[in-house]
Amino acid sequence: MHKFEKEVYTPKKEILKIQEERFRKTVKHAMNCSFYRKRLKELGINGVNDLEKIPLTTKEDLRKAYPLEMSCVNKSEIVRIQMSGGTTGSPVIIPYTRGDVEQWKEMLLRAFFLAGIGKKDVIQITPAFGLWNGGFGFHFAADAIDAFTIPIGAGNTRNQLKFMRDFGTTVLCSTASYPLRIAEVAERMGIDVAELPLEKMLLGAEPWSEEMRKKIEEIFDVKAFDIPGLTEMGGVGTVGFECPERNGIHIWEDNYIVEIVDPETGERVDDGEEGEVVYTSINREAMPLLRYRSGEISAIVSRERCECGIEHLTIKRIRGRTDDMVIYRGVKFYPSDVESILYSHGIVNYKIEAGERIKIIFEGESAIIERILADIKEFLGFKPEIEAVATGTLERFEGKARRLVRV
Ligand SMILES: [Zn+2]
Repeated sequence: MHKFEKEVYTPKKEILKIQEERFRKTVKHAMNCSFYRKRLKELGINGVNDLEKIPLTTKEDLRKAYPLEMSCVNKSEIVRIQMSGGTTGSPVIIPYTRGDVEQWKEMLLRAFFLAGIGKKDVIQITPAFGLWNGGFGFHFAADAIDAFTIPIGAGNTRNQLKFMRDFGTTVLCSTASYPLRIAEVAERMGIDVAELPLEKMLLGAEPWSEEMRKKIEEIFDVKAFDIPGLTEMGGVGTVGFECPERNGIHIWEDNYIVEIVDPETGERVDDGEEGEVVYTSINREAMPLLRYRSGEISAIVSRERCECGIEHLTIKRIRGRTDDMVIYRGVKFYPSDVESILYSHGIVNYKIEAGERIKIIFEGESAIIERILADIKEFLGFKPEIEAVATGTLERFEGKARRLVRV
């Protein structure tokens, strides 16, 4: 049995034992940076049970720590940095030791194992290779299994398609919205994407709905997996992977402790209740983070053994991010909620303008507006303005899609 296979199916009791050991070690190690030294000094943290005593760590904390204030190792031990997205203020820098890079790779190897990806595969990596972490994690893992790797990076969709066809790509790694863009370009090039050798897709970097998945799987005749990941936690694929039975995301609890909190109060919510995901990394060296607010919205589905055999806990697929939440006349919703409804009407390209009013602009026939309105009213509880525009009117994205515009 491979190392990662054993880790994927580790029994709960053992997982919790590893978790306790690693958490204690991490708390001690975190004292190497002044931020956590000050924070943890008089809290008396003796084990995972005391976790809740630790104040939440925010993105703002990381921003203030620029360049390497929150690093817990000597600079000489750092082998690379990545950067987390964000538009204002100082960049958020995530340093890695050799061990952290190994951990990144190993978590992705668990994902590859669950998705049945191996040496025989041709893996095309379309997220960018740069400070934003996208491409590298996939690359480290694809390289480690000696797969035929195409580190093509972002953009140039025609070339992406040409390579897919000419090299017989079987696995596509990309942002969730990119495959539909690829399908659109393929049509213009006279390529039938269902005829490509593609078998699997690992999609992430943005929340995406089940309806979108159905559409992608149908068009490409593939199996599409949701791969979560957060640069602050080490990058794409580190925190967990989608359950093969599609029960949600299994969080690798031997490496991360996950809590769900009320985004307003920061207090833990009950299992099953929706809230913001808070991560504690317990197997990272350069910059372990204790109770980091991710901005992701999810809920704990189960702490029990899943029917797929995995005993690492299960959370819901990410529904949205706190910064994407729209509150309109007392109704809270995320762009992915609107997306589900639009997809069920066959709409792929859309934009949501949120301001005094909510306006949804989509590419398609105006004849279906009334039906969409009725569904939004029924499922989301509000009535937006809706406009139908001609195909090709709205902006297309090759990376993360920006569907929500605040006006
Ligand atoms: Zn499962």
